[in-house]
Amino acid sequence: MTSCWPAADAWQQSLRNVITDPNELLAKLALPVHLGDTSAQAQFSLRVPRELVARIHPGDAQDPILLQVLPQQREMTPVTGFSADPLAEMGSNPVPGVVHKYRDRVLLIGSGGCAINCRYCFRRHFPYQDNQLSGEQWQQALDYIDTHPELEEAILSGGDPLVTPDSRLQRMIADLAQRPQLKRLRVHTRLPIVIPDRVTEGLVKAMTATRLKPVLVLHCNHPQEVDASVRDAISRLIQAGITVLNQAVLLRGINETVETQKALSETLFDCGVLPYYLFVLDPVAGAAHFDVSDAEAKQLLAELQACLPGYLVPRLAREIPGKPSKTLLMPGR
Ligand SMILES: *Cc1c(COP(=O)(O)O)cnc(C)c1O
Ligand code: SF4
Repeated sequence: MTSCWPAADAWQQSLRNVITDPNELLAKLALPVHLGDTSAQAQFSLRVPRELVARIHPGDAQDPILLQVLPQQREMTPVTGFSADPLAEMGSNPVPGVVHKYRDRVLLIGSGGCAINCRYCFRRHFPYQDNQLSGEQWQQALDYIDTHPELEEAILSGGDPLVTPDSRLQRMIADLAQRPQLKRLRVHTRLPIVIPDRVTEGLVKAMTATRLKPVLVLHCNHPQEVDASVRDAISRLIQAGITVLNQAVLLRGINETVETQKALSETLFDCGVLPYYLFVLDPVAGAAHFDVSDAEAKQLLAELQACLPGYLVPRLAREIPGKPSKTLLMPGR
């Protein structure tokens, strides 16, 4: 079998070369530049890799990828119930960069950065700058794991943990593999979707080099995000024996129809990816226009169940602070 790996540093160049100027993006897409003239940009800047921009349809102001990244003036209208810290994340770090809310799984904030700024993300209010695991903090995180024999899985999350270089990831994963109680390594990332070259030989080797069973959970919201380069990247992961799942966020105007959700599950399954969670939106200030009510979300899920095999229907879930797991909106599913 011939594997065709991307150059080891191509993704880092892409990361340095992301578009951050709304007017540049809009001009590229043949859209009126006045659309970029908003104070939302000052609050949480546009950030989108050129690889993803290539999948936006020029001339379409309602494009489902564009709407996930373009700062819009309506974000600045306050809406009751939508706040800066909806998950009360700031209160549950035993050690900087460590979030341990569920008994047997620990979340490690491998990096505060992301390749993309998604408008619906609570990161818009907490860039996590002082909450990432470097040097001494990494040792503290390992010490924390050592005092918690009930842990079975370490989850590298963020931000996006894959903005971290392969050499460092490899060392981190090797350190985790020395914790005898851990069985699984999970990575939560959007990078293979937005910069597919991120799936390097070094990354795949780092994830498969130890006894820990590797799982990678993608974040893809719309089938239009999947092109040939994404399919190739996913196939590099799967061929190496990594389990690949997807979690999406339910977003009005982007993926709230049965047709889109069905196409998302089918498109990803064609690449070997199974759906995991479909999250209802966290009520984060600036994202109210994406909100879909629980009643609509449940109706959508019922319709999806009627037109897909059970294994292609994601679990409709929300995160409620203080609960021992994610909360399913339709229990038993
Ligand atoms: C979502 C989350 C997990 C993972 O939960 P799963 O249901 O196993 O996907 C673990 N820890 C924290 C803090 C989380 O928010
Ligand atoms: S990639 Fe994930 S963490 Fe980063 S901005 Fe998007 S939703 Fe937030």
